[in-house]
Amino acid sequence: MATARLLLLLMVAAAAGSYFCTGEEVIMGYGDELAEEPAPKPAAPYCGSVRMALEAHNIIGWKTVSADCADYVADYMTGERYQRDSDVVINEAVAYAESLKLSGKGKEIWVFDVDETALSTLPYQANHGYGAQPYDRTSFLRYVAGGSAPALQGTLRLYRRLLQLGIKPVFLTDRTEDQRAVTAHNLVQQGYCSWEKLLLQPFGLQTSTQAFKTGERQKLVSAGYVIIGNIGDQWSDILGSPEGCRTFKFPNPMYYVA
Ligand SMILES: [Mg+2]
Repeated sequence: MATARLLLLLMVAAAAGSYFCTGEEVIMGYGDELAEEPAPKPAAPYCGSVRMALEAHNIIGWKTVSADCADYVADYMTGERYQRDSDVVINEAVAYAESLKLSGKGKEIWVFDVDETALSTLPYQANHGYGAQPYDRTSFLRYVAGGSAPALQGTLRLYRRLLQLGIKPVFLTDRTEDQRAVTAHNLVQQGYCSWEKLLLQPFGLQTSTQAFKTGERQKLVSAGYVIIGNIGDQWSDILGSPEGCRTFKFPNPMYYVA
């Protein structure tokens, strides 16, 4: 039996031929192979986890989408997932609004952010890496000035349902006063035909978006309005008292506004 086993081992070794290496050769070959290959891209689940952390405001103050996740974010924004995630938010907002008993005094309002909430800048983002390229104010303002931003259809559905229910829309945006005409025109063209107020930032205001929006909501409450709901794609849209009776975070993994 021992002789048979030895013969078998010799036959296997012979068959292995050039694959039968010393330990040193194996290690050197493996190292060389690694050095020549580009670093592998992180798998989609990693970028999905990053996106989740961004949306939950566990990662804050970020400037651009990381190069590792640029393709993931582009796929997310242009695929079904963004649409599905948006629909979940809108469905919840509609269900909440429908559950309310209004006072009948006409003072209930719903605050909408504009960019990436009511209107989409995706046509612009498509030419600028979906957030992977640094923010370029000049080209972004040029896009806004074109007045062609399409409506986000889910938000438009919420807007129309609120009007039916008697809840008045208020648009509150960090776009500036000099963009009022083009913003109003763009909103109307896309189906947002009326509103209680369209509030824009004074030109040259030196404050954060969150501070500006919080101040504007306080003015609304002081004027007797009841902010039934508040929806925006940035945490700076929905943080800061008075936030509104309920807030809704619309998905946006492309950029961060403080
Ligand atoms: Mg926005």
